[in-house]
Amino acid sequence: MKHIVKCPEPSSFQSWNKKNPRADWDDFSKTETYQELRECLINEQAMFCCYCEIALRQNSDAHIEHFKPKSKYPAERFAYNNLFACCEYKDSCGRKKGSDYFDNLISPLDKNCQLRFTYTGNGMIIPSDEKDTLAKKTINLLALNCKRLRNQRQSIIKVLDDGGITIDYLKESLDNCAEWYNGFFTVIRYVVGKRGTA
Ligand SMILES: [Zn+2]
Repeated sequence: MKHIVKCPEPSSFQSWNKKNPRADWDDFSKTETYQELRECLINEQAMFCCYCEIALRQNSDAHIEHFKPKSKYPAERFAYNNLFACCEYKDSCGRKKGSDYFDNLISPLDKNCQLRFTYTGNGMIIPSDEKDTLAKKTINLLALNCKRLRNQRQSIIKVLDDGGITIDYLKESLDNCAEWYNGFFTVIRYVVGKRGTA
């Protein structure tokens, strides 16, 4: 889970909210402001899905995700800090999570979220501390170990965790991971860390 730093809330979204104080999310999702907001969120996240870090190339790859589900926290349905760009895959992330939620679900806004997870050579995401039950629950709720994600991570690790790959190339891969490896920033960071300490 890559750490996300929020940019200022887009002014078009702020003014839409002011003009439509009673609107529900369905009304909003049909507007141009929705499209603009989604694009802002994708850019804010450097093109990565907020949970699995797959590259979001176009708006059609992504929806706006409510970290706290809008059905259970209606007052936060338009709260900018509750909104992220999320992939459309149904076997993981926001689509899989649906309206499930638990207190202390690890958020990409948590400063130390990247440190709470690591990987194994076969592409599994695991808690960095095996006693971290919230990290375990977060992985399960978001289905971050579904077969598709595991396979993608495993093949990236297999290519990059190789003696023939230089540290310089690995660092370049980190900068270009959205284009070269379809995302997965922290997976490449894991390989860099592994190689750096070898
Ligand atoms: Zn995702």
